[in-house]
Amino acid sequence: MILPVMKEPNPILRQKAVAVTEITPKIRKLVADMIDTMHAAEGVGLAANQVGSSWNIFVASPDGEKGQEMVFINAVLSGAKGKELKTEGCLSVPGVSAKIFRHTQITVTALDLEGKKRKITATDLLAQIFQHEVGHLQGKLYIDLLPGEENAAILKKYRAISETLGKIKL
Ligand SMILES: [Zn+2]
Repeated sequence: MILPVMKEPNPILRQKAVAVTEITPKIRKLVADMIDTMHAAEGVGLAANQVGSSWNIFVASPDGEKGQEMVFINAVLSGAKGKELKTEGCLSVPGVSAKIFRHTQITVTALDLEGKKRKITATDLLAQIFQHEVGHLQGKLYIDLLPGEENAAILKKYRAISETLGKIKL
């Protein structure tokens, strides 16, 4: 089921996620819906608060291939190495993108949907997804990482775009 994606300034995007203590059928359904929603929006990653849920869960699909999605529950990042400037966008801040610094390599430790602990070290796009999505689960957006002036400029642009979109009724 495709869920509506929460957009900035929805306060749930500023909430810290709650740890999952048990992988219940409800959690499995949420994950399945998150995967459907991510593909429908043509995203490469999606965090639970982006669909209005407080659980500490994100999904990723760096290649966009169905059936190959990765699920991360209670994810923790470690082992950050290097820094590079990356272009980034977000389904919750649609219509704009910006260049921000991300670590070139990072390790994520999380549970999968079977409750097994997994540790994955990633580079490139997957490393960028890990940092972006864990940021969401900490109540942060990528635009928060921009210097003050750039952050103000992108928010202004985003507000103008979303206002225009809000006025178009199709
Ligand atoms: Zn995002």
